[in-house]
Amino acid sequence: MNTQDRQPLLEVRDLKKYFKSAGGTLKAVDGVSFTIYKGETLGMVGESGCGKTTCGRTAMGVYPKTGGLSLFDGEDVHAMDRAARLKFTSRAQIIYQDPYASLDPRMTVADIIAEGIDIHGLASGRNDRTKRVYELLDQVGLNTEHANRFAHEFSGGQRQRIGIARALAVDPEFIMCDEPISALDVSIQAQIVNLLIRLQKERGLTYLFIAHDLAMVKHISDRIAVMYLGSLVELTESTRLYENPVHPYTRALLSAIPIPDPDVELSRTRIELKGEVTSPIDPPPGCRFAGRCSKACDKCRTETPALREIEPGHFAACHLV
Ligand code: SF4
Repeated sequence: MNTQDRQPLLEVRDLKKYFKSAGGTLKAVDGVSFTIYKGETLGMVGESGCGKTTCGRTAMGVYPKTGGLSLFDGEDVHAMDRAARLKFTSRAQIIYQDPYASLDPRMTVADIIAEGIDIHGLASGRNDRTKRVYELLDQVGLNTEHANRFAHEFSGGQRQRIGIARALAVDPEFIMCDEPISALDVSIQAQIVNLLIRLQKERGLTYLFIAHDLAMVKHISDRIAVMYLGSLVELTESTRLYENPVHPYTRALLSAIPIPDPDVELSRTRIELKGEVTSPIDPPPGCRFAGRCSKACDKCRTETPALREIEPGHFAACHLV
């Protein structure tokens, strides 16, 4: 994929999101920059608590930013007035991690799915609204008879399908998929990922796909950004990341993925991360991975490595790369 020929849809520049805590300032997102191009999927991975969800939500304007910029189709997400924000939500949607918590138990499936249709006045009448809900149910692999049931009557995978239908209802261009498979059984995860891939092809969607499972992220992503404690440490095309990971943290993450070939799997060496995890509350200068990196040197503990382009389209933040 040549990103030079593609049009940016979401441009995030030096984005910061800090929270005041009793112990100091928690730097959940600390100077993150990336671009998502129309029609692509950018996977964002990292351990729990690395700031990936906060980064996505801040980029979408769900949280106010502390600093930096997030532009959606050239428009500052955090400077939108009410009307612009409403228009933005018809173009950009979120699928949430927890299909149990994100669906209102008092609403029927039809009303959950039609929420966006109602807010944006997309249906010409009651019949049109119902027709649209039925079409959406069909597109996500559910039946029209599901429309009048309640969310608690469904399995986790089915609830996530309802969440996807709800996001699709406004016919968006962009969807932030916020760990959409983390709460699901492994057997269901692939079904949901395959559904998202099919919908992307059919509708020309652009995704930010947040996950901690690198194996599944590879399957859906054109490019992958690896996040560690509030910063991006590596970003490149997904095949390149798997062939040639350069950041020690990415290498450790990849070494943990089981390989389907039993002979290769036997020779797989897992890189175990040892040492202290740096606190995100007023972190000291230097590389935030230094406490767990076997290659850390004096420079790593005093100078923060910048995210640099080390080959066309391949960025890494490490003094040794
Ligand atoms: Fe390791 Fe230093 Fe590179 Fe950080 S900058 S990943 S501590 S080698």
